[in-house]
Amino acid sequence: MTVTVRFAPSPTGNIHIGNVRTALFNWLYAIRHSGQFVLRFDDTDTARSRQEFADQIAADLEWLGVNPHRVEYQSKRAERHAAAVEKLKQAGLLYPCFETAEELERRRKIRLSRKLPPVYGREALKLNDAEKSDLQAAGRTPHWRFLLPNFAETPFETQRTDVHWNDVVRGPQTVDLASMSDPVLIREDGTYLYTLPSVVDDIDMGVSHVIRGDDHVTNTGAQIAVFEALGATAPAFGHHNLLTTIGGEGLSKRSGALAIKTLREDGYEPMAVASLAALIGTSENVAPAADLAAMAAGFDPAISSKSAAKFDPAELDVLNRQIVHGLDFEAVAARLEASGVDIEDDRAKAFWTMIRANVDKVADAASWWQIVTKEPDTEALLEGEDLEFVRGAFDLLPEGEIGPQTWSDWTTAVKQATGRKGRALFMPLRIAITGRSSGPEIADLLPLLGREGIADRRP
Ligand code: GLU
Repeated sequence: MTVTVRFAPSPTGNIHIGNVRTALFNWLYAIRHSGQFVLRFDDTDTARSRQEFADQIAADLEWLGVNPHRVEYQSKRAERHAAAVEKLKQAGLLYPCFETAEELERRRKIRLSRKLPPVYGREALKLNDAEKSDLQAAGRTPHWRFLLPNFAETPFETQRTDVHWNDVVRGPQTVDLASMSDPVLIREDGTYLYTLPSVVDDIDMGVSHVIRGDDHVTNTGAQIAVFEALGATAPAFGHHNLLTTIGGEGLSKRSGALAIKTLREDGYEPMAVASLAALIGTSENVAPAADLAAMAAGFDPAISSKSAAKFDPAELDVLNRQIVHGLDFEAVAARLEASGVDIEDDRAKAFWTMIRANVDKVADAASWWQIVTKEPDTEALLEGEDLEFVRGAFDLLPEGEIGPQTWSDWTTAVKQATGRKGRALFMPLRIAITGRSSGPEIADLLPLLGREGIADRRP
């Protein structure tokens, strides 16, 4: 069987790290099984869907290395959805309901007080044609429910009807269709809830595996019934755990902080974001993968834990640092240039090799480039004895070429001449040279500065 998966965001906001977890579970599964990945915009909510969000989602996925084999928009498939509605109506499986939210709530309370399950009692099925016409004449427009196949003789006497699926994440699952209300597929205003367009599109697009967050587990039983009512075999399903904030709250498209766009603008590496989004809350160690292809080899969605996982931004920083420390000059040259490093300068490559271990993000290198190429004004940072010490020390800079050995020779000479050692010797010199109290090895920095550059830093 050809594996076809889909990632089906609603383009109503920017996607966040939790959405990316779903996208990656699908992408890695598709790649692992030489399958197809469809990016499907669930944009039937025309009031809230925006093309700019769709474009941003596509750009975010591309940045992460997810390159869909196909892109589809649900809004362009209205005819297919209408045809399915017709088919279900013909079969008597979609019926109009006129209850208001208050009526439904009142009935729910009555059922609960009678110790009955609080499911919809299918009262609308009892309306005859004249009653329906009267309601419509009185200005009531119906919403439409799908008749779940959970009864034998009459829909008013439901019976236990177990639906099984072997979840590719959670293993064997069972839901009883008699324990749920007939789902509303069409709202009063004629717009669809996501179930029907989603099922129709999954059928038409040959989706073999629906992999998504476990907030959809409870929808699956009814969806399988809709697949079958439309004459299709339901795909396989997989439900991974969700990510929450560190405080345990659900992520939402509105909480912009964890939006992929924001993480990208903040200078995080795509593989830091991808590694964490896919591996947090799983049985695997969270470690930076080289690329998505490496992650896909052997990927099994069953690594997902059953409970929600907390997304800790500090973990992202750790992963980012690990990745940045291993990036070579060629991989970062364009970004260094964009952040103000002159990559044509002879020193640029050696500069990056020196500085990468000292930065959390590639763009942080720019301020160090300034330190290397323009002498910092450090006089104000040094005073009294330290200032005198540093001035004297600069006079002891060894003759000859400035190379890897210079720092060690220089500090030995200074130690002999002044008796200073350890931090009291190194720190004032570091401050004089860089203007900062921490940073790269001064031994590596001196050759980049050259004799003149060092002399210029004498306070
Ligand atoms: N558009 C739906 C959502 O974002 C898709 C759910 C699904 O994958 O079936 O929740």
